[in-house]
Amino acid sequence: MLPRLEPFVQKLTTDWRGIAAENARPENQPKVRHYNAYNERIDRIVRPYEMQQMEREIFGYGLFSSQQIKNEGIVKRYFLHGNGEAGITCPLACTDGLVALMEHFLDEAPADIQNIYQHVTEGIDGDFAIGAQYMSEIQGGSNIPANILMAKPEGHHYRLFGNKFFCSAVHADYSVVTARIEDTDDIAVFVVPTWLEGDKAREKRNHHVINRLKWKIGTAELPSAEIDYQGAIAYRIGPQNRGVALAVSIVLTRSRLDIGFASGAFLMRAAREAKLYARFRTVFERQIDEFPMAAAQLEDLEHAAKRIVGTAFFIYEAFNRTQQNPHSTEAYVVRELVLLQKIFASKEAVDKLRLAISIFGGHGAIEDFSAIPRLFRDSLVNELWEGPRNVLLAQIYRDIMKMRKQISLDTLISSILTDSSTQEVQYFVEQIDQLMQEDLTALPNAENRRAARRWEQVWEEIFTLFQEQTIKELQDLPILTRTDGC
Ligand SMILES: Cc1cc2nc3c(=O)[nH]c(=O)nc-3n(C[C@H](O)[C@H](O)[C@H](O)COP(=O)(O)OP(=O)(O)OC[C@H]3O[C@@H](n4cnc5c(N)ncnc54)[C@H](O)[C@@H]3O)c2cc1C
Repeated sequence: MLPRLEPFVQKLTTDWRGIAAENARPENQPKVRHYNAYNERIDRIVRPYEMQQMEREIFGYGLFSSQQIKNEGIVKRYFLHGNGEAGITCPLACTDGLVALMEHFLDEAPADIQNIYQHVTEGIDGDFAIGAQYMSEIQGGSNIPANILMAKPEGHHYRLFGNKFFCSAVHADYSVVTARIEDTDDIAVFVVPTWLEGDKAREKRNHHVINRLKWKIGTAELPSAEIDYQGAIAYRIGPQNRGVALAVSIVLTRSRLDIGFASGAFLMRAAREAKLYARFRTVFERQIDEFPMAAAQLEDLEHAAKRIVGTAFFIYEAFNRTQQNPHSTEAYVVRELVLLQKIFASKEAVDKLRLAISIFGGHGAIEDFSAIPRLFRDSLVNELWEGPRNVLLAQIYRDIMKMRKQISLDTLISSILTDSSTQEVQYFVEQIDQLMQEDLTALPNAENRRAARRWEQVWEEIFTLFQEQTIKELQDLPILTRTDGC
């Protein structure tokens, strides 16, 4: 893969890195222009020209094309995360989910979906389409079954009516949207073109308007909007009552895997830059890394970066392997690992990026000195979207409740901690078993509050141990080829 990666990474760490940094400045952040000169509603997303060029170039690599060799797309996306350009990486993750969803039903898909699939994977006349995913509504982001956006059947498609409250990458060509089928309790999943054929150049959106763009703590380059659907044409994918399961198991799972890579790439960049800076800067006649406190913190930072990156690739491989056999024990173990990684990699990224900032002293707070403040803010968003911590911790509890008769706790923990002794596995099994005596989904009381606190801790201990075991052979690899400062 190396010859295919080198020119990509060269571009990424020079031209694209500069554009990403420039694009993050407040004056360059996306805006929405609602009307054109003729008073027609267009809802144009205004972004810098260089940003749009970069987006075309990156999507033009066809990261979801059959021309890519195995794992090439994901390795390139990992490197892209190091630039912290959520305006690119978020729609890439969403496109991944869109492709996977369409692939699941491709044999039976109508021509409209086949065309969209072609546009997204192989491109049409050199134009590669961008994907997005809109599930959250104001009354519940985590709670997709509570969706009220209405889908009204009309011939071979549907029309959507209502609001979606968090719509990132709103400049995308197609989105995966969940909605309730009219007069039923069924939530289905749809693919919705942003523009119908021939309308993109005329900026005539597919029967929807953008109310506003959100002002966010992070991912500022990424336009996240609120959308009102006013009869948008939508193509249903999969059975009409399986929307929630499809959205979670296919689309959100891929975004959650992507957050593992993002957390690792953010930390790897921060660890490298902090390490070089600590060698370059002299304070009180010593390099920063010649103070034991800084040296220990840099070591922790580097180790965390290796743990998260190594584990992200390990879980990704395991996830792909289990796609052939989704009801196997391994698939269950991987499902829990994806949830654990989403919770703890994104949480640790926030903590360790704050630590990296402190190595830089005052310069750590300066936005155009390094990208680390921006990565820090983006990592806070990574903790929230695609399932906040408590939702996923509760999900693990519910999964074990449901599965433990078929697959014992002992099997689950020993499959995660493959290098642990029987005694160590037993310790965790007993801990979890004891905590599960309390109902962690009931209304709070003194006992289940205490158990809830420990529930998070015990899973963090297990996941960190799993990371250590996974990267055992990689941990001595250097993260820098140059160690002489810069
Ligand atoms: C910058 C940004 C961009 C986003 N872009 C998109 C997008 O493009 N598409 C999209 O669909 N969504 C998007 N989201 C929405 C995001 O996915 C939701 O915010 C997230 O799923 C949480 O939903 P919520 O905000 O309604 O929080 P809530 O569900 O209201 O959660 C609030 C709190 O309650 C806890 N909680 C909720 N349910 C449970 C439970 N069952 N058990 C225990 N605790 C629980 C949560 O952990 C959290 O702490 C975006 C969010 C952000 C911040």
